[in-house]
Amino acid sequence: MKFCSLYSGSSGNSIFIASDNTRILIDAGLPGKSIDAALKEINEDPSKIDAIFITHEHSDHIKGVGVISRKYDIPIYTNEATWNSMLPCIGKIKEHNIKIIEKRSVTAIKDIDIISFNTPHDAVGPMGYTLHSKGKRISVATDLGTFTEEVKYNIKDSDIILLESNHDVQMLKYGPYPYPLKRRVLSEIGHLSNEACAEALVNINDESKVRRIILGHLSNTNNYPELAYQTVFNILNENKINTDKDMIISLADRGKPSSYIEI
Ligand SMILES: [Zn+2]
Ligand SMILES: [Zn+2]
Repeated sequence: MKFCSLYSGSSGNSIFIASDNTRILIDAGLPGKSIDAALKEINEDPSKIDAIFITHEHSDHIKGVGVISRKYDIPIYTNEATWNSMLPCIGKIKEHNIKIIEKRSVTAIKDIDIISFNTPHDAVGPMGYTLHSKGKRISVATDLGTFTEEVKYNIKDSDIILLESNHDVQMLKYGPYPYPLKRRVLSEIGHLSNEACAEALVNINDESKVRRIILGHLSNTNNYPELAYQTVFNILNENKINTDKDMIISLADRGKPSSYIEI
């Protein structure tokens, strides 16, 4: 399988995951032309995308999905509540491209099985996804206020995990966000801090396999890439997790494709 974070962060998210003959996007939260450009930059033909799976209706996850679906006739998958909430924001979608899936379900797109799970976030039906093909697993879990047992259960055996490392708690507390927004981000249905991300990784460490961990959905205002990386790196090391052998950490860029990984 192949993984590439096209964009990741509070300004827009889109993740490309593929097998030999299936190509999936998780979210399309930038203008259609930005997603087009990112796919071409990694030598992928946008017209060959088989499906787009949406995690939740916040604009940083859906901004370009209508444009991309109309331009290349690509089906969009998400749960009914999310559909109802995002449909007024994304323009007209062809009937045959509106695909409603259940939460906690498995959807087969050619040779990839896409498993959906609940995430604790302030949206109408937020979900994360694990993509499974020929014994390999890739998970995407961002926009979650807490690392729940359900998220843990779904992502723990994955070969590649994109996990949220949204903010530094001190930067957020003393930063420019208005108080209600600070409370929202810090709440159990907000976003995962760098420390919480690291603790989640400690929680799922399994020395029997090497995992590639991509830290994603970094805040532009309340985090620095170096700080996110160093915080996670230090906590893993304190817990005797080898960052060469057990968990190889990298960062997903906010504004360009990164972390092209093949397993
Ligand atoms: Zn969100
Ligand atoms: Zn988001």
